[in-house]
This record gives sequence, structure tokens and C-alpha cells, in this order.
Amino acid sequence: MSGTAETFRCMACGHEYQEGVESGEDKERSCPKCRSNSIRHMKAKAPPAKAVPPGAREPQTPRSDNDG
Ligand SMILES: [Zn+2]
Repeated sequence: MSGTAETFRCMACGHEYQEGVESGEDKERSCPKCRSNSIRHMKAKAPPAKAVPPGAREPQTPRSDNDG
């Protein structure tokens, strides 16, 4: 494994982008758009809750392990 893609946001222009980061690294970053170094690391969180009532789950679909 070589890191994971994290989301960053530029505080200067508001540009959001993803970049692969190593575990535990904290190197300086710069906005690929405006070159500003005011980059904030966006925490990976679950997407906004949809209008799906609890209990309305999707039916289980058969997994195809042979797909890859
Ligand atoms: Zn920027």
C-alpha cells in the first residue's frame, strides 16, 4: 500500500482536490490551482445523509467474486 487519497481544500481559492498521502506524513502542500500554501486537510467523513428512511434498505445483491 502506498498511502491513500485524501481530500484537501485551498483556503485561498476554495479549490478542492485529492492527493495521495502517506500514513503519518505532514509535508507542506500547495494549491495546484493558485499555488497558495493555505491548504486544509478535509476529514474523510460519510456523505450527507440522504432522504432514505431507516429500514428502507436495498435488497442484498449477489456478489460476483469473479469480477476483477
Ligand atoms: Zn487555491
